[in-house]
Amino acid sequence: MKIAMTRRELLAGLAASPFLVGEAAHPPFERIDTHIHLNRSAPEILAGFRQTRWRALTICVSRATGDEPSDLDEQLLGAAKLHRESNGLVSWAASFDARPFERPDFAETTIAGLKGWFNQGAIAVKIWKNIGMGIRAKSGAYLMPDNPALFPIYEAIQKQGKTLVAHLAEPDGAWLPLDSTNPEVGYYSKHPEWYQYGRKGAPAKEEILAARDRVIAKYPKLRVVGCHLGSNESDLPALGKRLDKYPNFAVDMAARVRYLAAGDHKAVREFLNRYQDRITYGTDFVWRTQTEQQAWQSVQTAHERDWNFFAQSSDMSYHGHPTQGLGLPEKLLRKIFYDNPVRWFPGIV
Ligand SMILES: [Zn+2]
Repeated sequence: MKIAMTRRELLAGLAASPFLVGEAAHPPFERIDTHIHLNRSAPEILAGFRQTRWRALTICVSRATGDEPSDLDEQLLGAAKLHRESNGLVSWAASFDARPFERPDFAETTIAGLKGWFNQGAIAVKIWKNIGMGIRAKSGAYLMPDNPALFPIYEAIQKQGKTLVAHLAEPDGAWLPLDSTNPEVGYYSKHPEWYQYGRKGAPAKEEILAARDRVIAKYPKLRVVGCHLGSNESDLPALGKRLDKYPNFAVDMAARVRYLAAGDHKAVREFLNRYQDRITYGTDFVWRTQTEQQAWQSVQTAHERDWNFFAQSSDMSYHGHPTQGLGLPEKLLRKIFYDNPVRWFPGIV
């Protein structure tokens, strides 16, 4: 029988109810960030995760859309390495380059590649918004998520028992005028390539989401986790309808907690309560050129800020906007931050 408690265990116990802020904020369970982009060796970040009792899913993204070179191989090798070095604390999601989808050997080559990454521990496969918003056929038509060229790949992911991570479409702001009322004015000013408002021939947001939904319906045994509240960040009732309709669909809240913070908290609490088995937490932190120390600081700041938003009920500031914490009960917090990731991403612990 274990008698002695470490200081951290003692603090975690004391902090259990209500959860305190800062050093003693650790709840009595591990938390999992299901959406982060580290994808290389990160000894200091791993030490930080251990100290703050976080785990993470690091996600590779095939960003190349036109004929620019791809950095996907570097990400895949880096993510597999980080996974190994972390002793399982960080699990990882592979991805594939969908640009050659018209080549006759596309599915076969892609599936062989993915199987190689599954052998190196990948537990999920990410598809990105360049499907539906960027990659085109020779005819000029946009590659949509339900293009039959992708079916054998979805089938293979389902057969291997892995999870499909789907960032498809974008926030409503991509299809709205770019003025100060657009909540994404900052992002699309810097990334005009993803700004679709008035773009001729570009599929509407609902068309992309409908194509995604057809995939979810076609493969009922495929677990699909929709990134960023499944791109229904501004319409929780619409998201709820989709979750009701597709039991194999869940969503992460990565980079969209700010919408919840700015929204009607009664409705947000009701939503989180009603779909408490279908939601995971993620930061969407991307490690670019920062030092590892700076990267860890950013991750830790995001973790603390978001945890406080969900767990506390006091006044706080979220991205400079005054708000109040949701003060969710421990049972819900445990589901969002631990149980749901375990269930939707088998192999994450
Ligand atoms: Zn992301």
